[in-house]
Amino acid sequence: MLRTHTCGELRTADVNKEVKLSGWVQRIRDKGGLIWIDLRDRYGMTQLLMEEGRSAQQVVDTARKLGREFVIQASGNVIERESKNPKMATGEIEIDLTALKVLNASKTPPFTIEDDTDGGDELRMKYRYLDLRRNPLRENISLRHRLSLETRKYLDNQGFIDIETPFLIKSTPEGARDFVVPSRMNEGQFYALPQSPQTFKQLLMVAGYDRYFQLVKCFRDEDLRADRQPEFTQIDCEMAFVEQQDVLDTFEGLVRYLFKEVKGIDIENLPHMTYAEAMQKYGSDKPDLRFGMEFVELNEVAQGKGFNVFDEAELVVGIDAAGCAEYSRKQLDKLTDFVKKPQIGAKGLVYVKYNADGTFKSSVDKFYSEEDLKTWAEKFNARPGDLLLVLSGEAEKTRKQLNELRLEMGNQLNLRDPKVFKPLWVVDFPLLEWDEESKRFHAMHHPFTSPKPEHEAMLSTDPGKVNANAYDLVINGVEIGGGSIRIHNRELQKKMFQVLGFTDEEAQAQFGFLMNAFEFGAPPHGGIALGFDRLVALFAGQDSIRDFIAFPKNNAGRDVMIDSPSVIAKEQLDELGLKLDLKK
Ligand code: ASP
Repeated sequence: MLRTHTCGELRTADVNKEVKLSGWVQRIRDKGGLIWIDLRDRYGMTQLLMEEGRSAQQVVDTARKLGREFVIQASGNVIERESKNPKMATGEIEIDLTALKVLNASKTPPFTIEDDTDGGDELRMKYRYLDLRRNPLRENISLRHRLSLETRKYLDNQGFIDIETPFLIKSTPEGARDFVVPSRMNEGQFYALPQSPQTFKQLLMVAGYDRYFQLVKCFRDEDLRADRQPEFTQIDCEMAFVEQQDVLDTFEGLVRYLFKEVKGIDIENLPHMTYAEAMQKYGSDKPDLRFGMEFVELNEVAQGKGFNVFDEAELVVGIDAAGCAEYSRKQLDKLTDFVKKPQIGAKGLVYVKYNADGTFKSSVDKFYSEEDLKTWAEKFNARPGDLLLVLSGEAEKTRKQLNELRLEMGNQLNLRDPKVFKPLWVVDFPLLEWDEESKRFHAMHHPFTSPKPEHEAMLSTDPGKVNANAYDLVINGVEIGGGSIRIHNRELQKKMFQVLGFTDEEAQAQFGFLMNAFEFGAPPHGGIALGFDRLVALFAGQDSIRDFIAFPKNNAGRDVMIDSPSVIAKEQLDELGLKLDLKK
């Protein structure tokens, strides 16, 4: 071995030991005759010491030729430090060097390997292997490992088995856009990379593997955001002979186990909230429950007083920003600008200040008396010193806009502490979603999700009203995962494809393999998939998943380190029977 110890493990108890360490040069300080080197590896940092005249000349000469990020092997004796560094785990000791060897030289890195690096995003991505040497990244990647391992332990204990499903599968028009792979042996034909192992895990249930899991890569060719990558990892699971509550219990167990094992946090029982309630109270199917500020509907008290904007609105709805009555003109203008941003799209914002002295001041004083505003305040259970923020318009749109405002106020009032975790289940999602553009229904979750049994008959009469046996796991306003109880009956699955606008031939061509399998004793089953990258980021209290993936893509879907995607040789194209026409 090129080392006897790592750079993170030596302590006072090791004083007088003869040791050998290997690692990267973090820093060199040369103060006249005394030279110190901070040596770094995955485990930490250890200080090396040598002294002109006292240490071997070879050691001093070699040290003077070192630069940042050189890989060295250092041999010496552990001694107690004269000035200790309580901030460093190894800060009580240092190594008095007897030999020093360069294992490999290094160019000067293009950015500093420090917690707060001076490297920009693009540069860090290009030299990702250097970025990964930095502590924050190392911690993220280790956290990912920890969560992955604990997930496996929990699921194994619950009798789940890990089964791999293929990556080269078949393209289907449902869901997001597929990444496709041309087949050389079947010219003109393409595989698709899986958006999820959905149909395979269902087939495993038919096969009798009644508890399946996999930490699996999934691929979706969508536009990217901070919390989205073209390839990402899911904790994918399926169970047979279960009802919705069984799946929720099992994965609530996983969530609580992970928080306990990895963060030492006890999570209370997860509340269940219906989709309808979430939309009504928070304007979102992924409410952030770290703070209240629930929506209060004001139609009753705000309409019929001559204020046209409200009178004509389907919904008048607001939130109570506690303690914000002192907001200045400028702050209120900023909030108005915020809701009027094109991404949010509100026409304006009405505010009511419930002043500390009990008086009211609002942007609609012309239309409402103090008495009127007092009835509003009562609806909100507001207290003197609060600020009421009210939006109006078409119900669904207005709720979505108010959701954005609520989250913004949550940010402004520091109510979204990344160290606090509030998970919940959102249940009873609608089965279908009407798409204006294509004038047809889409599956809200996916086409294999079963309707609530009591709603099944409505599939033929009023499909838009059918609720699904579908559920999402939401933590701190982030959708961490979702799943459903599946259809396991051929006729119902066929019916579902009809409702989605498939002809029987199309359904048979694309999903015949699954519907056929349903004729060979398919058990009732259901499952869930959790976004693993998001889960890890959430555990670290961060929004972006990128720094929790060792080698991610940038926002243009490129890997700038290996420079991919890239063109391929004409011979490769010929072999695949592909012709490119890039003239457009
Ligand atoms: N396959 C689904 C998804 O990726 C999850 C599930 O229903 O289990 O969203």
